Amino acid sequence: MTRARAHFFEASAEEIDMSNKLVLVSQPDQNGVPQKFYVPYDKLVISVGSNTNTHGVDGLEHVHFLKSIADARNIRNHIMDNFELACLPTTTDEQRRNLLSFVVAGGGPTGVEFASELADMMEEDLTPYVLTSFSAVLKMTLVSSSIKRSSVCSYRSVSISHIEYI
Ligand SMILES: Cc1cc2nc3c(=O)[nH]c(=O)nc-3n(C[C@H](O)[C@H](O)[C@H](O)COP(=O)(O)OP(=O)(O)OC[C@H]3O[C@@H](n4cnc5c(N)ncnc54)[C@H](O)[C@@H]3O)c2cc1C
Repeated sequence: MTRARAHFFEASAEEIDMSNKLVLVSQPDQNGVPQKFYVPYDKLVISVGSNTNTHGVDGLEHVHFLKSIADARNIRNHIMDNFELACLPTTTDEQRRNLLSFVVAGGGPTGVEFASELADMMEEDLTPYVLTSFSAVLKMTLVSSSIKRSSVCSYRSVSISHIEYI
């Protein structure tokens, strides 16, 4: 940063004043009160990424998304919570089946990578400590629209036993 003679602000860009070449930036202070200031520019590069897209699939707004590190941590904690609940002697077989059924929606690079990471976690981290007792109820499904792009939308489900095939 020093060598490039650059400045770094961890803050949110809220508005661009093109005519005066200023970006209005906001960042909460120690008390959580937003503090706003202008940052001048000569050339402006906008690279704010993209929003997660559910592609109109109903219900996906209720599931875990996988975009940020916080998302990844939440998913991991949720999976571990489910295994811990499944271990309880008071949990019924039906509840156990629900707790240990994992569905990955989206068979793009992230979905497939996540599915294989989940399989690794189950096979390498949780075996033989807890998994062996649950292998009958454990289920993982990868749901994806057709691999080859076509106008007809088809779904392909793959269980954990076929994870290598993916
Ligand atoms: C789980 C996962 C795994 C991936 N794995 C790979 C991989 O292995 N290989 C690969 O090539 N790609 C991978 N990708 C894709 C890759 O991460 C993205 O394509 C890439 O990060 C996009 O870069 P970006 O700079 O456009 O956006 P981002 O990385 O999203 O960066 C945008 C930044 O802008 C900030 N921002 C947004 N709005 C504002 C605002 N108003 N003011 C200030 N800042 C703002 C955001 O906080 C963020 O830091 C993966 C993505 C995911 C989700």
